[in-house]
Amino acid sequence: MSMDQGPARALQLKWELVGHGWARCDLTDDSQTASVIASYCTDALADLVASTGELYGQQHSARFFFDAEPQELRWVLSAVDDAISVTIYKFPDVGVSPDLPDSSGTVIWQSTHPRQVFVHAVLDAADNVLREHGEAGYHAKWSMHQYPFGLVADLRRLHMRDDVCALSHELPCAQARE
Ligand SMILES: [Zn+2]
Repeated sequence: MSMDQGPARALQLKWELVGHGWARCDLTDDSQTASVIASYCTDALADLVASTGELYGQQHSARFFFDAEPQELRWVLSAVDDAISVTIYKFPDVGVSPDLPDSSGTVIWQSTHPRQVFVHAVLDAADNVLREHGEAGYHAKWSMHQYPFGLVADLRRLHMRDDVCALSHELPCAQARE
């Protein structure tokens, strides 16, 4: 007997608040790992969740970046059929790189997973950081921005409506408070 759900478990995202105004996103799948840093100069978790949600509509790609001071970590999400491809490019200087094409960056992560797998991993990361810190604790550490409750709820609704996902969707208790 096995709890393993096969390839559906093959991607994990972990969102950690690592200090005042800093977060780290760890990505892991069967073949690679990457750690990307974000400062609160952008609302990084909100951008990840919102951009992921955009792929349920007419839009087939979405992009945003983390400001890792001084690096730019540029995320490019593309929807191809029922899969989402994720590429993260690193540029040495965010002061100049937003004008540069993707091809000028260094690829530090590339993966393609079924949409429900990627979206579930994003929701898991968002739920876990809220469970760990709570709403007030999240704001105290991330400081410039509140926890993106509305965006996470929107993404969860799209995931439950349009994806066939066999994984558990237990809501963090903190979400029920206030
Ligand atoms: Zn799911």
